[in-house]
Amino acid sequence: MQKLIDGVARFKNEVVPQHKALFDQLATGQSPEVLFITCADSRIDPGMITQTQPGDIFVCRNAGNVVPPHGQAIEGTVASIEFATAVLGVKHIVVCGHTDCGAIKGAMAPGNLDAIPRVQDWVDHARAAVRAAEAQSEDGKAELLCATERNVVLQMEHLKSHPAVAARLAANDIDIHGWVYHIGDGDVTAYNADTDTFSSLTQ
Ligand SMILES: [Zn+2]
Repeated sequence: MQKLIDGVARFKNEVVPQHKALFDQLATGQSPEVLFITCADSRIDPGMITQTQPGDIFVCRNAGNVVPPHGQAIEGTVASIEFATAVLGVKHIVVCGHTDCGAIKGAMAPGNLDAIPRVQDWVDHARAAVRAAEAQSEDGKAELLCATERNVVLQMEHLKSHPAVAARLAANDIDIHGWVYHIGDGDVTAYNADTDTFSSLTQ
């Protein structure tokens, strides 16, 4: 914990003064271009991966980068999506999964989650993705990546069920992107709806 406290002191005393104009501007409002929905996993740093600054991306995180479909219980993710699309007017939504995702592993083996029933219920939002991956893949390791990719596509579909997103899509005013961050080599693969596959974003 001391690491965090020391970090806050360095941030206030060294980093903020170095970027005074930026932080002065951010003090009175935000206008991010992108809503970035990703996993709560500690290994993901959205700002670092995308090399963006504070104010650039509105980040919404939960276990498994899940978007509950419209009509289910109202919770933080759904409220954040509505706020970002209807009030902030983001132009893009990125759903970003990642390799070695514990939430997807849990969705693949829900029996292992009996002691944590709320997690079990939550990752059930990814169940359809796991089923699709089971049908597409036989090898265990490839199946995890396949389920991770199918989960991104599934949550992209769930996004479209939300009225605030649907209105913007109907107006051709917002784009939805699906990414998978590969921890280790730093690659990000992106979903191509035409081929229904993921390929490197930067090549
Ligand atoms: Zn994860």
